[in-house]
Order: sequence, then C-alpha cells, then structure tokens
Amino acid sequence: MWGEMTVDLSEIIAADKRYYMNTFGERMPVAFEHGKGCVLYDKNGKAYIDFVAGIAVNALGYAHPALIDAITEQAKKLIHCSNLYYIENQAKLAQMLAENTCGDKVFFGNSGAEANEGAIKLARKYFYNKGQERYEIITAKASFHGRTLATLAATGQDKYHKPFEPMPAGFINIPFNDLEAVESAISSTTAAIMVEPIQGEGGVFVADNSYMKGLRKLCDENDLLLIFDEIQTGLGRTGKFFAYEHYGIEPDIFTSAKALGGGIPLGAVIAKEQVAAAFEPGDHGSTFGGGPLACAAGMAVVQTILDEQLSDYAAQTGQYFFDCLKQLHAEYGFITDVRGKGLMLGMELDQSINGKDIVKAAFCNGFLINCAAHNTLRFIPPLIITKNEIDMLIEMLDNILKAYL
Ligand SMILES: *Cc1c(COP(=O)(O)O)cnc(C)c1O
Repeated sequence: MWGEMTVDLSEIIAADKRYYMNTFGERMPVAFEHGKGCVLYDKNGKAYIDFVAGIAVNALGYAHPALIDAITEQAKKLIHCSNLYYIENQAKLAQMLAENTCGDKVFFGNSGAEANEGAIKLARKYFYNKGQERYEIITAKASFHGRTLATLAATGQDKYHKPFEPMPAGFINIPFNDLEAVESAISSTTAAIMVEPIQGEGGVFVADNSYMKGLRKLCDENDLLLIFDEIQTGLGRTGKFFAYEHYGIEPDIFTSAKALGGGIPLGAVIAKEQVAAAFEPGDHGSTFGGGPLACAAGMAVVQTILDEQLSDYAAQTGQYFFDCLKQLHAEYGFITDVRGKGLMLGMELDQSINGKDIVKAAFCNGFLINCAAHNTLRFIPPLIITKNEIDMLIEMLDNILKAYL
C-alpha cells in the first residue's frame, strides 16, 4: 500500500505500468525526490549529477532561490486569472524578451509545441492578410518541432508521421544544412522556412554559418518569413541569449519554451513588429498562456540569466566541456564526432556501442546523461554547471568507455 513516508519504487513502477499510458517506454529506474544546484537526489539519498536538466528545462538547476521566491510569492497572491484582464507579469516578461532580443512582440503559451503552433499560424495569417495564397512551411529532416499534429508534420521524421496520417498539409521536409535543397523546395505557395539553429533531438547537429545566412537571403529575396525554433537553443543554452546571435542574422519569428519557465510550463512566440501585427483579436488565444504564476517564473529565469551573465558563462564552460569531450574523442576510436555550442553538446558513437548502454552505466555511477538520435550522447546540463562537475563526468565516462576498448 501507499505508505505515509516512503513509497517503494516497485510500487511506483507497478502503478505506472498499470495506469499510465506507455508513451515513454522503459524509464530509468528512479523517482527523484529533490534537487539542489546541478544534483538530483532519490529517496535513498543517492545523488545524481544532472547533465539532462529536464531536457534543457532546468537552466538554473534545482532549488534556485530566485525562482523559488518568485513562484512562492506569486502563488500567495494570484496563480491564475484570465486573459480577459491585463496581467502585469505577462506584460513585463514580454517587455524583457522584446528588449533583449531582435523581437518586438510576444505571445505566451504553455509548451514548445504550442509556441510552434503559434508561429505557424502567425506565418499563415501574415500572408492571408496580404491576400497571398502562401501557407507552406519548409522544415528540415531530422528536426523536432513538437507532438501536436501540425508540429509533427513540421518535424521531419517519417517514423513520427506514419501512425497518425493523414498529416496536416502545408509542410515540406528537406535535408538540414543543405541550402540548395531549400532553394528548390521554394514555390509560389511557400510562406516560411523553419529550422532549429542546433537540432537537439535529431542528434545535436549545428546549422552552418553559410546555411543560416543563406536562409536569410533566400527569405529576403522571395519575401518569405524565417522562423527559428529556439525552444531548446534559447535562453543562454548555446552561449548566446538566443542562438541566432551566433550567425549575425535575425529571424522574423522565433519560439522559446523549455528553460523559459524554469520548469513551470511556459512557451513564447516572439516576432518582429510588422509580422506580429498579422494577429488580430480572435486569431489566437490560450486559457493558461501567460498566466501570472508562469510569467513570474519566466521573469525570474530571464532576469537571473541576464544578471548572472549565464550566456557568457555557458559559452566559457561549454568550450571547456567541448575540449574535454574532444580529448575522449582522440582517445577512443569508437567516438566518431563531438558537436555543439555552449552547453548543448553531443558526442556520437559508432555502431559498436549502444549509446543507451552508456546512459545506463552513467546512471549507475550517479550521472544523468541522455542519448539523442544518431547514437549521440547529449549533454545539456543546467547553465550553472561547474568545471569540477564536468571533470567528474569526464572521468566517469573515461572509466566506462575503457571497458569497450
Ligand atoms: C522540446 C522541443 C519542442 C517541443 O516542446 P514541448 O514543450 O515538448 O512541446 C519543440 N522544438 C524543439 C527544438 C524542442 O527541443
């Protein structure tokens, strides 16, 4: 039975298997109880140094005082009202995002997929207002844009489409980092090109500088909108506040989520003024989106990232981390590549090793890492990760990998 103090993990697993839809398959055999900094603890007090961060969500780590205070104070006052009324935190967070990015106007939803849905709708409405029949969005293969039907159609992975056909129309998936493929996919019905500056779920593939500049040029020449999905790459993760800054170009629309609410569900569509103006009353909305609690969390996250210069810190620590992984690469022939920017790094393994086995071995040693597509170990720790914690991870990986020589 459910005890007063502790619940045995086997009971949790049994209830999960019996009552929860099996969309996540075999999970790691742990239920975390609390966290502090970059460390998570299970009920037995076993510590795990976290290089997953709730999939790039927990940018400030665990139990960050600024986030706890913001949420606690706001919860005492007002958790939810409605977008029928003005919401102070919503207006303020929108201002913070607009003032610190190339965007001018913001709309808040509750997840990454919802933010991308908003971006897609905004792009379509922009051309509808102009009286042009442009609705098609060009996206990249191996991308990931979300789990709703439209964002699945945008996601360039056939395995996700097949069971849910028919997919919403108006999306073309073409190879990533291939400018010619984009050029030949553009037609009279094309509205926008949408890409991730670094493909996350797809295996940590970084968009080339020439590709990104070329996309901007193609959009300008053909009057298309450029949309960046910065749901994983945004908010300091790659060593810049948003990853488009690496390329010296600006998107017309970009999306944010994951780290934005520090763990409280929050996503955003951010756009240039003349694009944002395409949304008129009634075009879009959300019951929960941009609520007082989520936006209080968002303000604390954004303020902390800016005040503590966590983008720069992620750039420096990320470079150190990258160099450490490169050393492993030099040492072990089965490591085929090290990729990424800032604290969004990937280390690809060849077919002789199953990346999931390394994830399990790391777990047993008290480290959380994850394996993305292409047999690529992905490292997306809290932005406050220390060099010491990175050293510990590298030493542990070195020990595990020795067994595979
Ligand atoms: C995680 C992710 C999404 C989906 O976000 P959800 O909050 O899970 O809907 C979309 N795009 C990118 C690039 C992501 O990393």
